[in-house]
Amino acid sequence: MQRLLKRQSMYDFAIIGGGIVGLATGAALGRRYPFARILLVEKEVGFAQHQTGRNSGVIHSGIYYKPGSLKAELAQTGNQSLRAFCYEYGVPFDVCGKLIVATRPEEIPQLDKIFDRAFENGVPATRLRPEEVKEIEPHVSCIAAIRVPTTGIVDYRQVCHALVHEIQQQGGELKVRNTLPHQLRRLAQRSRSEARGHGTEGHDRPLPRRVFRA
Ligand SMILES: Cc1cc2nc3c(=O)[nH]c(=O)nc-3n(C[C@H](O)[C@H](O)[C@H](O)COP(=O)(O)OP(=O)(O)OC[C@H]3O[C@@H](n4cnc5c(N)ncnc54)[C@H](O)[C@@H]3O)c2cc1C
Repeated sequence: MQRLLKRQSMYDFAIIGGGIVGLATGAALGRRYPFARILLVEKEVGFAQHQTGRNSGVIHSGIYYKPGSLKAELAQTGNQSLRAFCYEYGVPFDVCGKLIVATRPEEIPQLDKIFDRAFENGVPATRLRPEEVKEIEPHVSCIAAIRVPTTGIVDYRQVCHALVHEIQQQGGELKVRNTLPHQLRRLAQRSRSEARGHGTEGHDRPLPRRVFRA
């Protein structure tokens, strides 16, 4: 592997894919290893052109996830860190909250379950009566509702734009209209299967040489 890396190029990290996952990975690596050489390649002409650029633009609260699960934990920490990132980089966002509504009596038990889950997950939520819902959103008709104040909205393309800027500021290289050469793709596969066999690497370990497929 070492011989192959030497022959190919001299990057410490190569990341494949310029959606939110690849770009956030690149920026996080740059923060953790300020002297590392980082390369991110994206096959399209620009970043966030696939799922990231076409999603619903919601900053999720984490209300729905199984309490105690990694998803529940990451959704909440992600909600806060994304808001902090947007604030720092001047990306507009709006923590407008979300309404989850029941429109028929048979939906009430499900709404109760979601409310219990919010409590277990530590996600702030309040029960609202239909008239209280009307005050927030006059176009909604329901028989019961939950309001989740921590849900927000953001344009993830703009978030990606800020991440691109951060990676460039850190000295990382970004290439569009680019896919990794065949040998590195094989290396990425090998790296993935190696990663499956190891735990999370500690901060104090030597700089890892890895290829990430984001
Ligand atoms: C309908 C829908 C709505 C959603 N709404 C939300 C929401 O509101 N909020 C939220 O948080 N999440 C939402 N999600 C989930 C979220 O959009 C995804 O989890 C996220 O965008 C995934 O990002 P990604 O970087 O993994 O993928 P992508 O954004 O798809 O990025 C992958 C990138 O890799 C590139 N690539 C692929 N192969 C190669 C290669 N060989 N060489 C170089 N580049 C390559 C692609 O061109 C692409 O740019 C939604 C998902 C869907 C489907």
